[in-house]
Amino acid sequence: DRSVDTLDWMSAETKREAHLKLSKYTPKIGYPDKWRDYASLEIRPDDLIGNVERVAAFNYRRQAKHLGQPVDRTEWGMTPQTVNAYYNPANNEIVFPAAILQAPYFDPAFDTAVNYGSIGATIGHEISHGFDDQGHLFDGDGNMRNWWTPADEAHFKEVTAKLVKQYGGYEPVKGHKINGELTLGENIADNAGLEIAYKAYKIALGGKEAPVRDGLTGDQRFFIAFAQSWRSKSRDAATLKQMVSDPHTPDEWRAFGTVRNLDPFYQAFNVKPGDKMYLPPAQRFHLWW
Ligand SMILES: [Zn+2]
Repeated sequence: DRSVDTLDWMSAETKREAHLKLSKYTPKIGYPDKWRDYASLEIRPDDLIGNVERVAAFNYRRQAKHLGQPVDRTEWGMTPQTVNAYYNPANNEIVFPAAILQAPYFDPAFDTAVNYGSIGATIGHEISHGFDDQGHLFDGDGNMRNWWTPADEAHFKEVTAKLVKQYGGYEPVKGHKINGELTLGENIADNAGLEIAYKAYKIALGGKEAPVRDGLTGDQRFFIAFAQSWRSKSRDAATLKQMVSDPHTPDEWRAFGTVRNLDPFYQAFNVKPGDKMYLPPAQRFHLWW
């Protein structure tokens, strides 16, 4: 809400709608109120192919049962044991299964900077999906309704075009650049999510300076935790497949593509012109800043 209020480019009309949409977000945390009944699904320890077929048929029947029925807004699109999270524009809901609410993403005993840099950025990411290139076309009730004034819509397109260009310049596999259009929504969510998480971290500090730990400042630990949350390894062939079929930017570029748009990153690590991750201020992407 605070980030919407301080935006100088957004009209009062669109801001009112943005606040309304935010007030209607439904968070789902941990696990569903109603457990899914798997009793009719037969799993045999010696029949992998058969299990896959029966699971597919089970899921198909479950989906088909929805036909002609009212929408069940309590339903979950992920299991509690899935290490992931999602935003569903039709329900205007953000969902965080139990499995992502534990180390290394979150632990109540962790340093505040680390929690905000990892699960905080993920929460910010999912919230931002309601305002990305797809999500902003839905209102707070999940209806497809454009609630943006033409001028705000034009500004949004102009700002996000910067991101299309930026990510389109990255080359995770030699000779193959990222598709900036395909990945736009996720890249908006990554960048806006980290901005929001950083602001929330500062609010959590309550105006106090974060303690130095292991020789690292609070801001340094925040950015390191964010980068660590994207640690993964994949072969070039798998990365290539992801680049043509998945709206998510490969993990390594999700980490460094995001931090270099955030001004505090430059102060935290004294990043200067000429450094590999340096971006001139005018080229940095800000949506809610
Ligand atoms: Zn996402």
